[in-house]
Amino acid sequence: MCRFWHITDIHWDPDYKVTGNPNTVCPSSSNPVPNAGKWGSYLCDSNWNLINLSVYTMKDLYPQPDFILWTGDDTPHVADEKLGEDAVLQIISKLTQLIQEVFPGTKVYSAMGNHDFHPKNQFPGNYHRIYNKTAELWEPWMDHQSTATFNKGAFYTERLKGRIDQRIIVLNTNLYYRSNKLNVGISDPAGQFKWLEEVLSNALTAKEKVYIIGHVPPGFFEKRRGTSWFQHHFNNRYIEIVQKYHSVIAGQFFGHHHTDSFRMFYGHSGSPIGVMFIAPGISPWKTTLPGVENGANNPGIRVFEYDTNTLEVQDMVTYYFNLSYANTIAPLWQLEYRLTEAFKVPDGTVQSMEMALNKLYNNNDYLQKYYKYNSVNYDLTECNKDCRIDQICAIQQVDFVKYEDCVKRESSSSTLTAQVPVISSLLLSILFLPF
Ligand SMILES: [Zn+2]
Ligand SMILES: [Zn+2]
Repeated sequence: MCRFWHITDIHWDPDYKVTGNPNTVCPSSSNPVPNAGKWGSYLCDSNWNLINLSVYTMKDLYPQPDFILWTGDDTPHVADEKLGEDAVLQIISKLTQLIQEVFPGTKVYSAMGNHDFHPKNQFPGNYHRIYNKTAELWEPWMDHQSTATFNKGAFYTERLKGRIDQRIIVLNTNLYYRSNKLNVGISDPAGQFKWLEEVLSNALTAKEKVYIIGHVPPGFFEKRRGTSWFQHHFNNRYIEIVQKYHSVIAGQFFGHHHTDSFRMFYGHSGSPIGVMFIAPGISPWKTTLPGVENGANNPGIRVFEYDTNTLEVQDMVTYYFNLSYANTIAPLWQLEYRLTEAFKVPDGTVQSMEMALNKLYNNNDYLQKYYKYNSVNYDLTECNKDCRIDQICAIQQVDFVKYEDCVKRESSSSTLTAQVPVISSLLLSILFLPF
């Protein structure tokens, strides 16, 4: 069986300390942190113990993966003033060093996250010292020619190590993030879209298969209705490219959400053509995004089993670290679930993930199971009506307009079946008629 690891959102907080004073545990929490433990806290970003154990656990489980995907966000959730270019680079450097020490000789494909820059999110579409320094740190993992595009925009492509007709594309989608003020009004920052189309077009001609990895994903955040990351026109462009070149794209792997989810892409005829796997974070940090209740997670790491001829995903296995158990009883990384077993699907292909989505849609038991995994076994509450709409529509519709339609449709249909008498339902269906 051939495998690769996917890890993301480590968010190391170097100043985390176990102390009885709740106000001085970690800078990554603006609230007091009671009961700080040796392995961290749900209110804080990762401490070194957790990160070190995570990487060594990967080594214990599968010491010789074909490669590792690492999709960014290395620094803690603290104000820019508390960091700086050098502090950011030092954190990236320390984590890079750890992975290189534990997995010497293993190829790592690494994408920058929106926190891997100073000031955070403000990635320019041209040369920057941070790009250059990061490329130097990752030089042992990169082919020589990859540094040229990395220096000008933090993206690159190369053949998968040892393969002739398989390719990895590492994107810098932070260029498309709404919080990035530098690229407002720019149609193609760093020319990355044009470059991506060229790479995919060449891959099509050469009959290659590719994996695409990146940090900030297109589409919506399932934990808060209507929350998207890309500017609208960037979101459209990304979807168009996937629609045009879906036959060569064998998988997309992203992070940023800190949750475990997936996204479907559909062709113009409505048939499923692509899937993006969003991996849970290692940081347990409880999001401060207004409107998200209790948005922490247990640390998660993930391994993919795949077909080395076609790059088809055969299975996906997620391991988790129950942080409260670790702090009170013993540190233990455990198997959380195996995709094919949990959702009774044959593999992780587009067709199988569409099947999985249909199960979530039609069967509440599957939805509840998925919801538990979404926070890596942290939030064990019921996924209620609103939660169901948020989760289903985020998975199904990466497109902004179609997502809104999905939310409207699902809101009205659940209202109709659940509560509303016939006359109001007639009224509702009139209200939602497209004009
Ligand atoms: Zn993150
Ligand atoms: Zn992020």
